[in-house]
Amino acid sequence: MAGNRCRKDDTSRRGTCLAARPRRGGVPNNVVIVLHFAGSVKDYAEAVPFLGHTFPIPARCPHPDCQATGSLIGWGIYLRWACETVTVHRIRVQRLRCKVCGRTHSLLPDFLHPFRHYVVSLLQRVVSLYLLGGLSWEHLLRQLPESGPARSTVREWLDSFAYGAGELLLDVLTQHLLTLEPLADLPDTVPGHLRRVTNPVRRRRLARAYRFWLLAERLYAQVKVRQPRLHFAADQLFTFLLHWLPSQGLPPRLFWSPVLPHTPTAPFQARPPSPSRPSSNVAAPPRPRRRRRGAATNTDSHYPGRRPSAILRTAYNRR
Ligand SMILES: [Zn+2]
Repeated sequence: MAGNRCRKDDTSRRGTCLAARPRRGGVPNNVVIVLHFAGSVKDYAEAVPFLGHTFPIPARCPHPDCQATGSLIGWGIYLRWACETVTVHRIRVQRLRCKVCGRTHSLLPDFLHPFRHYVVSLLQRVVSLYLLGGLSWEHLLRQLPESGPARSTVREWLDSFAYGAGELLLDVLTQHLLTLEPLADLPDTVPGHLRRVTNPVRRRRLARAYRFWLLAERLYAQVKVRQPRLHFAADQLFTFLLHWLPSQGLPPRLFWSPVLPHTPTAPFQARPPSPSRPSSNVAAPPRPRRRRRGAATNTDSHYPGRRPSAILRTAYNRR
C-alpha cells in the first residue's frame, strides 16, 4: 500500500514499543533484528506477501539470556509504515517466537530505523544537511517537499540523533575505531554553525554528534578496506551503522529521543564477546583496547546480537 504523507514519526510514548522497554533486570524482552534488504521499499512491500520469503529465520535466539539454537519459529507479522519523502508504504514485518524462552522478536529490513516511520535514507539526508551542511531551518525545510515531514518531526530527528550519537554512542565508536586505527587522529573541531547554537546542552550534543559522524565515516572506510565488496555504498552510512551496532552488543539504533522515559541515560559501552558463544562460524567482534572502568553501565548494552551481522562478519574475519 502506498499513500501520501506519513503524519507522525515515532516520538510518542507508545512509540517506545516493547523492545525499547527494559524488562527483567534491564534486558528488553523483544529484540529488533535489522537485516539487509537490497531492494527498494516498494520492492519489499510487493515482494513480501508471505512470511519467510525474504529473510531466513536466524539460527539462534538473539536474547542474551537465551541464545538457544534452532528455537525460532515464525510468529505472524505486524504492519507498519515505511515513509519515504512523500510516499508511504504499508509493509509487513515478520515476527518470530523462541520456543525455549517464549520471547518474540522481529526482522526489520534495513531501509528502516527501529521505531521510526521514515526511511533511514531520509533521516540521514536531513541530519546531514543540518549537521554537516550547516543549513538553517528555513533552508533545510525548503529542501523537503511540502508534503514531507513536518518541521516538528525534523526537529525531533535532530534532537534524537544528537542525543543518540552524541551522548550514547560517541564513546563506543571512538573506542572501536581506535582498535582498528590505533594512531587515529581524532577530530576535535566544531563547525561554526554548531558553535552558534544557543542552548548549551543542545550545542554540546550536536558537537559530539558531529564528531560521531566523522568517526563513523572513518569506521566505514576501515571496514571497506577490509571488505571491498561491502553491501553498503559510502552514502549509506546510517544503514551501515545499524549493522555495526549489534556487532558491538548494542541496539541497532542511532536515534534516541532524550525525552522518553525509557531512553538510556548513560553512554553505551561495548560488551566483550560472550565466553559461551561457539567459536565456529562466528567471528568475534574486536575487543576494545581500553575499557572504561567505573563508568555507569547502560542496561541496554545487554542487547543481543553480540556477533557481527553476516554483512560485516567477513570484514572482521579479514582483520
Ligand atoms: Zn530464546
